[in-house]
Amino acid sequence: MSTPVVHVIGAGVSGLAAAVRLAGAGNRVVVYDSAGHAGGRCRSYLDTTLGRRIDNGNHLLLSGNDQVMSFLGATGATDTLTGPDKTEFPFLDLASGERWTVRPGKWRLPLWLLCKHMRVPGSTVWDYLSALKMAWASSRATVADCLNTSRPLYRKFWQPLTAAVLNTEPEEGAASLLWPVLKETFGRGAAACRPLMASEGLSETFVDPAIDYIGRHGGEVHLNQRLRTIQFQNGRVIALEFPDSTVKVGADDFVILALPHDVASGLLPGVQTPTENRAIVNGHFRLDKAPDGVTFMGLVGGIAQWLFVRGDIVSITVSAADELAVRAGEDIAVDLWTDVCRALDLGDSPLPPYRIVKEKRATFAATPEQATRRPVCQTEWANLMLAGDWTATGLPATIEGAVTSGHAAAKAVFDTYTGHVG
Ligand SMILES: Cc1cc2nc3c(=O)[nH]c(=O)nc-3n(C[C@H](O)[C@H](O)[C@H](O)COP(=O)(O)OP(=O)(O)OC[C@H]3O[C@@H](n4cnc5c(N)ncnc54)[C@H](O)[C@@H]3O)c2cc1C
Repeated sequence: MSTPVVHVIGAGVSGLAAAVRLAGAGNRVVVYDSAGHAGGRCRSYLDTTLGRRIDNGNHLLLSGNDQVMSFLGATGATDTLTGPDKTEFPFLDLASGERWTVRPGKWRLPLWLLCKHMRVPGSTVWDYLSALKMAWASSRATVADCLNTSRPLYRKFWQPLTAAVLNTEPEEGAASLLWPVLKETFGRGAAACRPLMASEGLSETFVDPAIDYIGRHGGEVHLNQRLRTIQFQNGRVIALEFPDSTVKVGADDFVILALPHDVASGLLPGVQTPTENRAIVNGHFRLDKAPDGVTFMGLVGGIAQWLFVRGDIVSITVSAADELAVRAGEDIAVDLWTDVCRALDLGDSPLPPYRIVKEKRATFAATPEQATRRPVCQTEWANLMLAGDWTATGLPATIEGAVTSGHAAAKAVFDTYTGHVG
């Protein structure tokens, strides 16, 4: 059997992760994306109003995101991440003005919880340990089902954390999707839950180095190529139809569909996918000067859950934001600016130049019901694999989930053509 060509449709993080792994192993990889840029839901661009490059949305990673670290290690982009030297999560209650910092200890066992100054104010050791119920929760349980929602820890920690990780409120978010993230990060101690962000921009960390890597390994990335139809014969994909061309898929070749779930389901009738999404709204504000000493901050008691600072741009994130996303951008800006002023002690400063970015389909809704609709990577067609943060990775729709899905699709390709399974 000759070395196959692998056609990867979708140049978001999942498609790029699959392509990097396959190209690095000596396969010929061709990537296609319908947009004029790669990166999908994780990208940077020049905003002309602000006169700055901004991200489509703030993306927070944790150092325990092993698949992401492996992807960035391969493309040489690990150094493009930045974060506080210590594993610390500063929080502010915008309603009361109370500030506190969550500082996970270095041990795998959460012995740090015994130290009162390392816990959220008003919380007990038992408040944290009761979250272990998530480990045994049924697939139908929500995060809130496993926690005492009347305790201060719920509002001060679990609510913003769940909204950030699942992009779904804890009252409807699946415990089975939050637990693996807690286990891989907070469960492994401080070294695995250091907060990390792209220092320059998401594209400079996740997209451009991957495209360079694919090119250096003989692959190609074609933009403005919308896949319209897939031709099948005898249980295999035989051709891909783009508006101006039809690409033949040879007998030894493979296709990885790394598309949003609604696009994939349109191309593959009969394949079950999630059907509901949740929005994320980001507000980017350009200050007169960069604020001192703030990198990021968790917020409760206002509208936003997280605030990030990059130079003179302050960006604020509202997850699970379906209600907010239907409002006019001007109104949203005024309300989010109030949160920024309180968080950074800016008094009643006038609204500066801003950009509101509404991602109405930011992620699939991480509810127990939607989680059952996630398909596995291998399809009924022998040479067609699925990738994307909505596939059955066991993780929520995050960068770690997207990279995991891309790596799984690459492995499925290897296993099929080498005949190796395991
Ligand atoms: C605002 C926002 C904030 C987020 N914050 C975080 C965070 O803090 N931490 C975190 O870990 N994750 C975060 N995420 C989630 C993360 O961005 C996604 O999980 C990840 O980018 C998904 O990658 P993907 O490859 O699965 O999908 P996508 O990025 O959607 O990629 C799919 C690609 O397919 C292309 N495409 C669509 N149709 C076609 C077609 N017919 N033919 C060819 N190509 C097509 C699209 O252009 C796109 O490039 C956030 C997401 C958003 C939107």
